[in-house]
Amino acid sequence: MVIAKLKQKIRRILEDGGIDCADFETEQLLKWCIGDRYYITDSMEDIGEDREHMLTEAAVMRAKGEPLQYIIGEWDFYGFTFKVGRGVLIPRQETEVLVEKTLPFLNERSVVIDLCSGSGCIPIAVAKKSKADCYGVEISKDAISYFEENLKLNSVESKVRIVEGDVLDPTRETLNLLPKQADLITANPPYLTAEEMENLQKEVRREPELALFGGKDGLDFYRIIFEKWKSLLKPKGIFAVEVGDRQGESVREIMTAAGFEVQVFKDYGGTPRVVLGEKI
Ligand code: GLN
Repeated sequence: MVIAKLKQKIRRILEDGGIDCADFETEQLLKWCIGDRYYITDSMEDIGEDREHMLTEAAVMRAKGEPLQYIIGEWDFYGFTFKVGRGVLIPRQETEVLVEKTLPFLNERSVVIDLCSGSGCIPIAVAKKSKADCYGVEISKDAISYFEENLKLNSVESKVRIVEGDVLDPTRETLNLLPKQADLITANPPYLTAEEMENLQKEVRREPELALFGGKDGLDFYRIIFEKWKSLLKPKGIFAVEVGDRQGESVREIMTAAGFEVQVFKDYGGTPRVVLGEKI
């Protein structure tokens, strides 16, 4: 089938599946399948049966709710590319605010620990944009395999170390693999509430629950991590976390009670998204 016709076919499959941005996603799928030739809208070039089959299958999966990012297998975050797929949370644009707000605190001697790293997007973006030494703590083996690939893809193997471990209850082995003192600790922990988990978008339902669910009110991780990890922060060190849509004030209170001087920053949509505290 020629590209021009195929584009119409793919767009129709996506539209019938109720995909909102069918035009954009058709382009993304074509680009993934045939590279830069995708943008020649009226192309009469035939891409062959194999590719047509591959593209049609992908569009059908997408129409059934598979996230576009998992089909394409990679996604951009802070201007860098990350491998993603089943078993790891897809990097979100609002998480870029967390990186942006913490970079000014770093210099060539800084040590950064990221908790709940997932694909590694936070520590890798921080390592690319600063001279800091970074560590990422992650519990899921599936996520760690993407994190490892992403270190190589972004050539930061010497700047970011992956440490397997549970941030809620770090063992001695986990702590032994981390520095004794850090200048900055970051985290985008699971923070969705039980109610939000019941009403997830169909795409988000395909993402790991482990990376999403933060307990009944979504605040479980915040109640624990500030207390547990504070001793690894240097005096005046910074702890910065992403929070859910209505959690800014609650997390500000939890962090203040844990002994931090706190600021809250909004994302580009105007929602409080990053809570950042200096250790008092
Ligand atoms: N931002 C994700 C969502 O909107 C949630 C990620 C998280 O829980 N940290 O679904």
